[in-house]
Amino acid sequence: MKIIRLTVYIVKLDAWNVGTRYSATDKLGLSLQSSIVRLETDSGLIGWGETLTPPPFYHPTSPESARAAIGLIAPLVLGADPSQNRRILHDIRSMMRGHEPAKSVIDMAVWDLAGKVAGLPLVELWGGRVVNDMPVLCLVNFASPEEQFAQIVEFRAQGYKLFQIKVGDGDPNLDVARIEAGMSAMQPGERCWFDANRAWNIDQAMQILNQVKHLAPLIEQPTETYRDCVTISRRTGLGLMLDEVIHDQDDLFRAVNDGVIDVAVLKLGTTGGISEHRHLADVGVRLGIPMRIEDYYGTGLTLAAVCHLAHTLPEHAVFGLYDYHLPEVPVVKNPFPVANGRVRVPNDCQPGLGVEVNPEVLGDPVAEYEL
Ligand SMILES: [Mg+2]
Repeated sequence: MKIIRLTVYIVKLDAWNVGTRYSATDKLGLSLQSSIVRLETDSGLIGWGETLTPPPFYHPTSPESARAAIGLIAPLVLGADPSQNRRILHDIRSMMRGHEPAKSVIDMAVWDLAGKVAGLPLVELWGGRVVNDMPVLCLVNFASPEEQFAQIVEFRAQGYKLFQIKVGDGDPNLDVARIEAGMSAMQPGERCWFDANRAWNIDQAMQILNQVKHLAPLIEQPTETYRDCVTISRRTGLGLMLDEVIHDQDDLFRAVNDGVIDVAVLKLGTTGGISEHRHLADVGVRLGIPMRIEDYYGTGLTLAAVCHLAHTLPEHAVFGLYDYHLPEVPVVKNPFPVANGRVRVPNDCQPGLGVEVNPEVLGDPVAEYEL
């Protein structure tokens, strides 16, 4: 069996509500785009992958650069046997440094095919379920402390127990009040943490954390550099959730050796895809570091990929997953069910990723490569 066609689609997702101090100018017309790849084999099997590159003000990538890299990778994929997916990935890595979002989308699509060739959902192909479901985290966006408290109450009513609270949009005193309000809102079995998305400088971070460190808050990526994160952790005694500074196993080992990381965030578009995530997740399990397994954003395709992987890990190793599926952009007809703050790979999951793509949502292809 060989891959004979690679088709690329773009889906616009305008619902990204991730708060960050970074901003874009409207003049550039930046929007959040998911690049979706369809791989077709000569046997008729179809594999799907997705990558969502954040805008370049947030991460040194763009949807356009991802699609250019997919075009460079295409000759290595066309003609390849999808069950030889390690070989395909090796060829891609040997040919190209960087461009992790492009590697990730191809990797996901090849895994979808590999599962379909084997007749197994990926969770089974990867050794079977260790858990039956996973907690989903919810995002409490920038607002006053009172409004963030109200958002938590609303999410709690839907069954959520994990709350990522956004901080870092300018006023350190406001962030102090948000941290105090968030910590006071927690009930038994719940957890919240505070994501600055690199927004604080070290002076702001110390000013804020010196006032709240007695509450033992968990802080996500307080500053731009890893060095400043280490300084903050040592001065306050607080372990951190590290996100934008974790790219590979060297970063993970370094943060563990430095004693600054309590939780790691692994993003497909940063590590280079689900294969690299599987490796890092195994490393994280052995290091005893809980992980968020995710990408920058996405649709039901990305949710399925991270869900399969998370189900092969022990419960204590997975801090939580994002629910990416947007009902208003139904790229996937049968997204994995999220109920009562938890998500699961269905028992009757079909082979591969186990989701069916809705072609009408994809529109016309933006690129096509044939053998
Ligand atoms: Mg983050």
